[in-house]
Amino acid sequence: MKDRIVILGSGESGVGAAILAQKQGMDVFVSDFGKIKQVYKDELTSLNIPFEEGQHTEEKILSATTIIKSPGIPDKAPIIKKIIENNISIISEIEFGYRFSKAKIIAITGTNGKTTTTALTHHICEKAGLNVGLGGNIGTSFARQVANGDKDFFVLEISSFQLDNCVFFKPHISVLCNITEDHLDRYSYSFENYINSKFSITKNQDEHDHFIFCADDPVTMEYLDKANPEVNKIPISYFENVSYGAYVEDQQIIIKLDKTNFTMPISELSLHGMHNSYNSMAAAISAKLIGVRNDKIRESLEDFKNLEHRLEFVATIRGVDFINDSKATNVNSTWYALESMTKPTVLIAGGVDKGNDYTLIKELVNKRVKAIICLGKDNEKLHEAFASEVGYIVDTQSMEQAVQMAYNITDKGDVVLLSPCCASFDLFENYEDRGKQFKRNVLNL
Ligand code: ADP
Repeated sequence: MKDRIVILGSGESGVGAAILAQKQGMDVFVSDFGKIKQVYKDELTSLNIPFEEGQHTEEKILSATTIIKSPGIPDKAPIIKKIIENNISIISEIEFGYRFSKAKIIAITGTNGKTTTTALTHHICEKAGLNVGLGGNIGTSFARQVANGDKDFFVLEISSFQLDNCVFFKPHISVLCNITEDHLDRYSYSFENYINSKFSITKNQDEHDHFIFCADDPVTMEYLDKANPEVNKIPISYFENVSYGAYVEDQQIIIKLDKTNFTMPISELSLHGMHNSYNSMAAAISAKLIGVRNDKIRESLEDFKNLEHRLEFVATIRGVDFINDSKATNVNSTWYALESMTKPTVLIAGGVDKGNDYTLIKELVNKRVKAIICLGKDNEKLHEAFASEVGYIVDTQSMEQAVQMAYNITDKGDVVLLSPCCASFDLFENYEDRGKQFKRNVLNL
């Protein structure tokens, strides 16, 4: 009997999986409870792949031999409960793509830093002339790329939701940037479940594979001790001179993996801030492990173009710098943004709070922030946390108002930082929309 693949969710990853399944001669059906974007509908239609939207027809779904689930669909969705009751295997698009690829995989996960580290690693590999793809949560889906022709290497950004539905996925190199509380609503409010999910990136790795992790991250270290996966473990640290791995000393990153050490001054890295030193070390080690030469790594770390919405410099207007860090949707990422500020800062923060603990940034706010412009429907928690830490805290309801207000209270030599600590869905479509509105309003000042 032919395999019947049913794909739930018809975004880039769902459509990519559908194309790959069809290429493999499988019977495919795509079902999306919401609306499917027109470009994807057109594509499915042109390929004769049947689909439905606005509903999940049970008999069409429960007849599947395998379900490929979009990472956005939670396990508590009624259709998923039914699928589980019927013992049908559920996998992610990453797992599906993996089953048809012979490429060596560099897989990157963590609470913060995934996209940056993935894009940077890919940039180094590409500059070194490798036949390498970039996928996962970024750009073209992994499955679609596999369908279009395999590569020698893939650098993949992997979320915990994608890991949750992996079975055989076995990266040659895995990177765990860090683990702090996030997305707990999807993990029965258990931090432990979330940690286990992140660590599952190593579950199929063996002693010929590599696991790069941050030795300064207490959560990672505690679980690593317990789980002790059988894989070559490579620490990175900002504070500790490790004998094997990477660390920072005298404002230089130093990588020790083999006889020849790699060194590079932090001032020459294109990405600034302590968090980006971690990301640069992880990317450089990954590239070294697959044989990229030191001079190529150095060159690529120097000329990498920062991604939009991540500590992105927007403009200097009458002596005031404006920085867009709209992607900072949790407290930890805002901590790193504030940590890298060297000028008096007006912070624009707020939005949908996912259970934030603001005590983590109180000290830095007290030291570096002169005013907070709250930008959210409900700003009460920000007031409670910071009213006694900053001289000025005010509410706004639109980006235009927030930027204007921030500008009004700055002096020459200050910086205005949008680093919200929160998701954006109360006032914006998503973090990209929030960041773009910020930039537009800054440039209109
Ligand atoms: P992700 O893809 O995991 O969300 P990004 O690379 O898009 O991560 O960065 C998201 C936010 O986290 C940015 O605002 C950035 O300033 C911050 N960040 C980036 N790398 C790290 C890191 N290694 N540790 C902590 N925060 C980071």
